[in-house]
Amino acid sequence: MTAMNIAIVAGARPNFMKIAPIMHALQKRDDVAATLIHTGQHYDRNLSDIFFEQLEIKRPDVSLGVGGGTHAVQTARILEAIEPVLAAGAGAKDSSQRFDRMVVVGDVNSTMAAAIAAAKLQIPVSHVEAGLRSFDRSMPEEVNRLLTDAISDQLLVSEPSGVENLRSEGHPEDHIHLVGNTMIDTLRRLLPNAKETTALADARLLEHRYGVVTLHRPSNVDTRDTLAAILEVLARVSSQLPLVFPVHPRTASRISEFGLQPILDAAPEIRQLPPVGYLEFLALTSSAKVIVTDSGGLQEESTALGVACLTMRENTERPSTVVEGSSTLVGNDAEELERQLALVLAGDYDVGRCPELWDGKAAERVVEVLVGE
Ligand code: UDP
Repeated sequence: MTAMNIAIVAGARPNFMKIAPIMHALQKRDDVAATLIHTGQHYDRNLSDIFFEQLEIKRPDVSLGVGGGTHAVQTARILEAIEPVLAAGAGAKDSSQRFDRMVVVGDVNSTMAAAIAAAKLQIPVSHVEAGLRSFDRSMPEEVNRLLTDAISDQLLVSEPSGVENLRSEGHPEDHIHLVGNTMIDTLRRLLPNAKETTALADARLLEHRYGVVTLHRPSNVDTRDTLAAILEVLARVSSQLPLVFPVHPRTASRISEFGLQPILDAAPEIRQLPPVGYLEFLALTSSAKVIVTDSGGLQEESTALGVACLTMRENTERPSTVVEGSSTLVGNDAEELERQLALVLAGDYDVGRCPELWDGKAAERVVEVLVGE
């Protein structure tokens, strides 16, 4: 029997947690040859390589090395670099074969660009994390989600809202598969390993007596006044609850450009770190009292962990984290953030429950759909 040739694409930090369990499940099968393509959208060691090591993902078969740039430049570079790879089936076990299917995950530029290149070469596309909608097209991720879903014929959905969104956009019912959350597969598998790290001790933190902060979305970090107001609140709160803040490179540039480092320097209980590895980060989040974030993935991880999450967004494409889970939307309103933090500190905060199918087995269900079982 000829193996099914599947290309799987990853490019940026939030993709790696999502592909890891799918890669592992594909690699167990002898009827599938999986080729991993890394676009190189994120290329720093602490945003890319460390995740391949800690998540035990095989080295990419193909690295496109596209690097940074504006959205248009990055998308164009990925399209240009991936097309010949897909056209030739390069990296596949039998290089004379074309890819039978392309798998993309999440909502980054690599997701959309790879899907477009594949669709134009008539390679069917499977989108993992399909159907999520913030209904806010000012977010580049929303544009990526809409375009990717429009040209995918297998829409693998992590939560019920995604199924409703895809139905209302008119996607055929047989394209839509509610499979659960592959990122939470990774979290469940690696939580014991995370607990073995020294991340808490290294940051001088005591279990459940600190908060974790991550920020990188333009709505929070690209305007000086907004970012300054958020940092002021964090500085004030840190005197009651120490905060650990692994700073995304984008945010680090803005803090420095806007001259806001003195706010952090004046708050010794904010432990500023460079971005940390997955295991260290999971160690920090899983023992935190509260998480303050604008990350998509972290809203889901905090829900799975049952840790209070104050989400610095006006909307979310992941409503189950608010309706069922532990997240509350606080926008970029510094006062509301302070009010919600006070509720968490007073023990007056409901962390909800974990949505169905976030059970550690989503990747198995993804692979069943991919191979048509
Ligand atoms: N993460 C990490 N180290 C960090 C910050 C985040 O490993 O210093 C992980 C986090 O657990 C989550 C993912 O990176 O799985 C989120 O990535 P990011 O915030 O870049 O993207 P988003 O979720 O906003 O798309």
